[in-house]
Amino acid sequence: MAYDDANIFARILRGEIPCDKVYEDAHALAFKDINPQAPQHVLVIPKGAYVSFADFSAGASTEAIAGFFRAVGKVASDLGVDAPGYRLIANHGPDSHQEVPHFHVHILAGRPLGPMLAARS
Ligand code: 5GP
Repeated sequence: MAYDDANIFARILRGEIPCDKVYEDAHALAFKDINPQAPQHVLVIPKGAYVSFADFSAGASTEAIAGFFRAVGKVASDLGVDAPGYRLIANHGPDSHQEVPHFHVHILAGRPLGPMLAARS
């Protein structure tokens, strides 16, 4: 799947639409999810143009991958949720219900999060 430069996170990265930023460095931007699924719900995105986890893990440089995942860890730590705990989610492709085609990791925290997956419907 080709990267779509018009996706909403590409537009956030370019500053074309606002976000509630919580962290930024050379490799990553983190901002609050517009439709939070937990008391703390932050999205962390790499600065490079990668559609999803498969694309990022195969195509990004070692430095970009390390920098991105260090940023995820720092954001979670800065949120103060290392001790109570948190969940990371990265959706890839249709079965996962990925909506935005720019790789991102969700950090969810702030309450007991329950089972890993919703009950099968
Ligand atoms: P996905 O289903 O692709 O893993 O998750 C996409 C996430 O992006 C959703 O949780 C959704 O609420 C969030 N989202 C979609 N559009 C925007 C936006 O314009 N701003 C922010 N901050 N989050 C968004």
